[in-house]
Amino acid sequence: MTDEGLDRLIARARASSEGAGPAEAESCLSLVAARRIALDPAQLRPDEAVHLDACSACSRLIGQILDSAPHPSFGVLLGGTLGLLSGASARAFTNHAASGACKLCRERLTKALPTVSRCTSPVLLPEPGAATAEPAAAEAFKSTSDEQIGFSVVMEGGRVVLEVRSRDPRMAFALVNYSLFGRDPNRIVEDFALLRPDVRDWQVAEIAVDDRVTTELGGEMREVVVAMAHPATLTQGERSLLMARADRDPAWKEWLNRNTTVRMSPAEARPLRARHLEHSAN
Ligand SMILES: [Zn+2]
Ligand SMILES: [Zn+2]
Repeated sequence: MTDEGLDRLIARARASSEGAGPAEAESCLSLVAARRIALDPAQLRPDEAVHLDACSACSRLIGQILDSAPHPSFGVLLGGTLGLLSGASARAFTNHAASGACKLCRERLTKALPTVSRCTSPVLLPEPGAATAEPAAAEAFKSTSDEQIGFSVVMEGGRVVLEVRSRDPRMAFALVNYSLFGRDPNRIVEDFALLRPDVRDWQVAEIAVDDRVTTELGGEMREVVVAMAHPATLTQGERSLLMARADRDPAWKEWLNRNTTVRMSPAEARPLRARHLEHSAN
């Protein structure tokens, strides 16, 4: 955000508080303080908490800071950390998360990074609509001490399929994120998937790389990154997205039943709520 943009933001927030009483404006938060609280609600000081309870303008300012520099997606977070980005997506990562100032993004990375599996050899995708028997094959199976997750890129019935799998039965209905990086580093196709029980204790998620994705990626998967996504570190938008899937798909419903906190907004950086959580944790 430019300084000019910030000035306008503050002016708007202050103007919208007119009529709220002159006393409240006296100790309004500085922009630096508002940004600190927006990115890490646990850093809210008691005097700031008292002020926020009384001043709707400062609460709004914090909300606007969050809206103007939203949490990057999992793909951008992981891609930025692994050095895969450039241009706009690299800037989105650097502005928001590279400094480690955002608590939620720190937690997302801390939980996801140890579970990352990558395929660093580019996979050429068949032309959309073309019937081809050419095999696309790549594999990245990774094991860690307490979790096993990996994936293969295989040709199946004329289409490319990303098959994420684990042979750990505890990973049934575990949430994973996959990010496909295209020829152009700003082109990322990513989504969440569920590991679903398969034969002999295998847990599998099969993701078809369809024509739309092929076009989006410019005909090539330069890199594939798969990681576990911890439900407690989802953003509000991601939770809404996945809760909507539970209405249509029994497996997602099962996932939601196993992760009831997803409905309850545990990690979102909303200062007033976070302060409440902080107090109740003491
Ligand atoms: Zn204020
Ligand atoms: Zn963040």
